Amino acid sequence: MDTDVFVAWFEEAARLVRRDRDRLTELDAAIGDADHGTNLDRGLTEVGKALADSPPSSPGQVLTSAGATLIRRVGGASGPLYGSVFRQMGKSLESPVTLAGFAGAFEDGVVAVERLGKAALGDKTMVDALAPASRALALAVRDGVGVREAFEQAARAAAEGAKATIPMRARKGRASYLGERSVGHEDPGAASAALFMAALAAVVA
Ligand code: ADP
Ligand code: MG
Ligand code: MG
Repeated sequence: MDTDVFVAWFEEAARLVRRDRDRLTELDAAIGDADHGTNLDRGLTEVGKALADSPPSSPGQVLTSAGATLIRRVGGASGPLYGSVFRQMGKSLESPVTLAGFAGAFEDGVVAVERLGKAALGDKTMVDALAPASRALALAVRDGVGVREAFEQAARAAAEGAKATIPMRARKGRASYLGERSVGHEDPGAASAALFMAALAAVVA
């Protein structure tokens, strides 16, 4: 996986988020403040601009650049949270990138967001999609699965993790203010995390 694949990842994520912008915003309208789709769409557009303005020379640089841009340019909670995932991943990732190296760096990114957001599995956040994806990658490495298959499994785990937030009661972020009324809605950040993983599966396919 070279630098171009990582740039393509963020291009594809931007495309999927733009396509699903209204759905993400509607999910956030139900349990938040109706800005998640627009927040991420704007953030990923800025990521694309930054990557074009200062072309990165390694996969790690793509990730640290994207992370820094999301932290700087997205007003909502999700900017610093996604930003910390990618920035940490970028710091951890060594070139050349192997599946095991990617899985390890991704795990570090998930740990970073869990620390920053003080969120754990089951709190109805993006962690509920990211952590299962990370686990799927670790299992794929253990089982010697190929890169394409591994990212497909991670994308599936993230999508299932996002759907699994529907019956959860939110314990972190704005949705937690709703208490019991947050039950019955998919978490917008978990939904967008599933799009990031779908984008990755698409670019390695
Ligand atoms: P805001 O809530 O500031 O408007 P967004 O709407 O862009 O920000 O993002 C909301 C998403 O951020 C939530 O759906 C959730 O997945 C995620 N989130 C919020 N707080 C936390 C947290 N403490 N830890 C992990 N994820 C969180
Ligand atoms: Mg919001
Ligand atoms: Mg907001």
